[in-house]
Amino acid sequence: MSNLEGVHPDLIKVVIRAIELTQVDFTVIEGLRTKERQAQLLKEKKTTTMNSRHLTGHAVDIAAWVDNTISWDWKHYYIIEKAMKQAASELNIPIEWGGDWKTFKDAPHWQLPFKNYPKE
Ligand SMILES: [Zn+2]
Repeated sequence: MSNLEGVHPDLIKVVIRAIELTQVDFTVIEGLRTKERQAQLLKEKKTTTMNSRHLTGHAVDIAAWVDNTISWDWKHYYIIEKAMKQAASELNIPIEWGGDWKTFKDAPHWQLPFKNYPKE
């Protein structure tokens, strides 16, 4: 939960509700990110942008927690997706999933949309 520090309260609400709903346990691996770290990830091609929502606290990365360890198996992420989307709709908070992106699919990534939540 300490990884939620500095994250937008609406996004935190969705994550907390989703934890109650999900059939697959998950852990927040990253929330707020420094510019330096973003630049490093760009260099390592783990991201495609310097305009990440992580820099402003509008994004979180969530990992499936299965058998006491992180799992990257997509099957778990579809289950987490259901919980996150249900939580968002219950709370009436718009949310975007990196797994829905066409070019750079990012299963752990969730963010508040730019159009509803401009910077800050
Ligand atoms: Zn992310």
